[in-house]
Amino acid sequence: MSTGESTPAAPAAIDHPPLMPYDPSIPNVARVYDFLLGGKNNFAVDRTAAARLTQLVPGLQRHALYNRMFLQRVVHDLALAGVRQFVDLGSGLPTQDNVHEVVHRVAPDARIVYIDIDQMAAVHARALLARHPDGLVRFVEADVREITDLLARPELAALDRSRPIAVTAVALFHFMPSTQPKQIVTALREWLPRGSYLAISHATPGTMSPQDVKTALAEYQRANLQLHLRSPQQVRDLFNGFQLQDDIAPVQLWRPEFADDAQAPEGGHFIGGLGWLKGDRP
Ligand code: SAM
Repeated sequence: MSTGESTPAAPAAIDHPPLMPYDPSIPNVARVYDFLLGGKNNFAVDRTAAARLTQLVPGLQRHALYNRMFLQRVVHDLALAGVRQFVDLGSGLPTQDNVHEVVHRVAPDARIVYIDIDQMAAVHARALLARHPDGLVRFVEADVREITDLLARPELAALDRSRPIAVTAVALFHFMPSTQPKQIVTALREWLPRGSYLAISHATPGTMSPQDVKTALAEYQRANLQLHLRSPQQVRDLFNGFQLQDDIAPVQLWRPEFADDAQAPEGGHFIGGLGWLKGDRP
């Protein structure tokens, strides 16, 4: 594995039209999520969409925070366990305590590659990375559904595949229809070295009424996004080939941080888990 003594990373060349171009006139998932997390990189249309969604999913903002904390707990635990390479799929707009910040507090030499399709996320990530010229933190503007092309990108090819890699797909797969997440997980399983990890979190309808589910899906469609809610069993099945470290759970109950959260949430929420590709521990 690299020691991190690498040459400064050149700014990523932008040699293709944006995959998901910036459009402030329609709500956008990265910006709606940024708003829910208390960020400032969002517009009135995003805040309006977030308000409408919150009416359908009470506590949505809290669920977004729980989801983010799940991601932070996962990468923190894995860094403590010795993992030194992380790939964050659908990383979103940079916010407080991004993956590299959490991981670098434990392991300053760890490598992190962020991936997102969103042009605004790309612009912000590149600005953020300009402050990290050591090459340990990279960003790739890419569509995760093009998984074969993505895995061939130099930023990923540069990872040391004789050592475990942790991939996080947190609040991502519910934007993809049935077979796509499975295909992505299969490709990852073939690419990842033994002993690697995969964390997934996913929106689930929970106790939402079928009518509220229908309305929420229509709201996402208005933002040009398809939302695909999955049941806990369907999310468990996504870990195909990975050994679940604990059973999947509502994200706030996965290795819970606060005793107050130790009850099953009402309504729609995120569920998640951590899978391991059997092999040597890092
Ligand atoms: N993973 C972060 C978290 O949980 O805190 C952000 C989650 S945000 C709800 C979902 C992110 O996935 C957005 O930034 C969106 O642009 C990105 N995304 C959606 N579809 C994608 C795709 N096909 N390829 C790459 N990124 C995608």
